[in-house]
Amino acid sequence: MTYNAPLKDMLFVVNELANLSEINQLPGCEDATPDTVEAVLEENAKFCGEVVAPLNHPGDKEPSYWHDGQVTTSKGFKEAFRGFADAGWQGVQHPAEFGGQGLPKLVATPCIEMLNSANIAFALVGLLTDGAIEALLTAGSAEQKTRFIEPLITGKWTGTMNLTEPQAGSDLAAVRTRAVPQGDGTYKIFGTKIFITYGEHDMAENIIHLVLARTPDAPPGVKGISLFIVPKFMVNDDGSLGERNDVHCVSIEHKLGIKASPTAVLQFGDHGGAIGTLVGEENRGLEYMFIMMNAARFGVGMQGIGLAERAYQQAVAFAKERIQSRAVEGSSGPVAIINHPDVRRMLMSMRAQTEAARALAYVGAGLSDLAHSHPEEATRKANLAVYEYLVPVIKGWSTEMSENVARDGVQVHGGMGFIEETGAAQHYRDAKILTIYEGTTAIQANDLVGRKTVRDGGAVARSILAQVRATEAQLAEVQDADLAAIRTQLGAGSAALEAVVDYVVANAKSDVRAVFAGSVLYLKLAGIVLGGWQMARAALVARQKLEAGDGDAAFYRAKIATARFFADHQLAQADGLRHAIVDGSAGVLALDVEQF
Ligand SMILES: Cc1cc2nc3c(=O)[nH]c(=O)nc-3n(C[C@H](O)[C@H](O)[C@H](O)COP(=O)(O)OP(=O)(O)OC[C@H]3O[C@@H](n4cnc5c(N)ncnc54)[C@H](O)[C@@H]3O)c2cc1C
Repeated sequence: MTYNAPLKDMLFVVNELANLSEINQLPGCEDATPDTVEAVLEENAKFCGEVVAPLNHPGDKEPSYWHDGQVTTSKGFKEAFRGFADAGWQGVQHPAEFGGQGLPKLVATPCIEMLNSANIAFALVGLLTDGAIEALLTAGSAEQKTRFIEPLITGKWTGTMNLTEPQAGSDLAAVRTRAVPQGDGTYKIFGTKIFITYGEHDMAENIIHLVLARTPDAPPGVKGISLFIVPKFMVNDDGSLGERNDVHCVSIEHKLGIKASPTAVLQFGDHGGAIGTLVGEENRGLEYMFIMMNAARFGVGMQGIGLAERAYQQAVAFAKERIQSRAVEGSSGPVAIINHPDVRRMLMSMRAQTEAARALAYVGAGLSDLAHSHPEEATRKANLAVYEYLVPVIKGWSTEMSENVARDGVQVHGGMGFIEETGAAQHYRDAKILTIYEGTTAIQANDLVGRKTVRDGGAVARSILAQVRATEAQLAEVQDADLAAIRTQLGAGSAALEAVVDYVVANAKSDVRAVFAGSVLYLKLAGIVLGGWQMARAALVARQKLEAGDGDAAFYRAKIATARFFADHQLAQADGLRHAIVDGSAGVLALDVEQF
């Protein structure tokens, strides 16, 4: 169950599809030259493969545990986190002025993928810390930035996101945690937060909780939520640790997967009130959280891609070793199962979906870099809009994909997949959380329909479709049977997606229940078409490289074959999805509640 980072594919996507050379020209991104990026990814691959990946299965067998308000993490996690922090991996994409490496998101993204392939439960501590850093960079005061960001970036401390309460999951309007002003600029926080990832642990000396709460005069609903910093240990002016704050971990959950990561119930204020400081302005907490959530949702999408890659590698290794049955065309004896066409289908499906999701996510990361660093405002804005459209797709589609890939991984293993010792079952169990936290797939789909499609009348979606059409035109110029087949399916996919965007925009007011009955299918369709678009672009580049005799011919031929598989097996589903969305809502909503 080793993990070998797919560096060749990662670098191909970074350079050829996400245009590192363009990102490298942006102000502040000059250090990200192709050579430097390759060296960074190689180093990260080594760390993830050698240090973090071996902890994955043992952590599942011996999860973190709670005792007297404290949490001891799985064996080896504490030391691995020190290695992670000391090597600067937490800070890859964060500003150099706070101790980060200041590299583009396009470089951090493959690093995040590798960490998650190695060990999702371990990677979560960094993912949540990234979210906290992002929120403070966005909305923190100069004093808060100075005090908190550097220790978070250097891994001296870690961060958490405290949104969920027993009655407030998807619906954050129901948050009840109270924040009472003390008249000295601080607030006392009272309430219970549940499901807080790495809410308590022994891997760093302090934990910086970012907490959603309501002040006494706050308006009801999401407009009355504010964001607070509540450190586990108070922080003195010189940065040293002060008194223990009144936030305590009363238990951690027993879970289906990601067992090594502690999921805490945190009690705020049971002994007089936890001291918190406001981030930004009162009642704007959800707005800040959304900025942080965009980063975190993208990060969870990367978790899906990382997990899918690991499950794929494991299934390939097993399929080459397991001998069973003669070949359908006849063979002298039983063959390795990778020779059976249906096992091939599963492996190709796992591989093609993982590569497509990777390509879409890395392209998204490049757009985020353009949105942040391009010198022209209009270009920044245009790229931000496309990136924001993609975030729910990257989160929702990549994580649903990872569950399917992990399920196929178990299936390839046969009975041994159901037995825990191979580890295939762990990937399947671990994958399940990815479609739930940071907003379920339905919540991502609501975002895609409401904020990302209806709000601008489908303008951004159509601008992306115009780019897909441009790729179709490029495919048409090439005489090649595989590329022609890809073009046919991509054309059908883009037509289906356009029809759905038109339908969503036209019916969002007049028939809102029908539109939302198809929201998750719209997200899936967008993922398939936009992932297929990236695979088509990849096939075009691969063909040019083959013609030019440039580089690894076997890699490029495999890329074209994988893109063709994606077109025939995934893109080909597009019109069926269109039908289910545009014509299938009546069936979704046909029965009364009492009939269930
Ligand atoms: C292991 C783990 C770690 C977590 N880590 C954190 C963390 O660090 N910080 C934190 O704050 N929270 C965390 N969470 C909480 C997580 O984000 C929530 O569980 C998630 O947002 C879903 O909320 P819920 O569980 O209340 O489900 P519910 O909101 O009750 O949803 C139940 C079902 O109803 C659907 N549904 C609900 N509302 C809608 C709607 N409007 N439209 C369509 N469908 C809808 C959902 O899609 C889902 O299928 C974690 C949870 C787990 C299990």
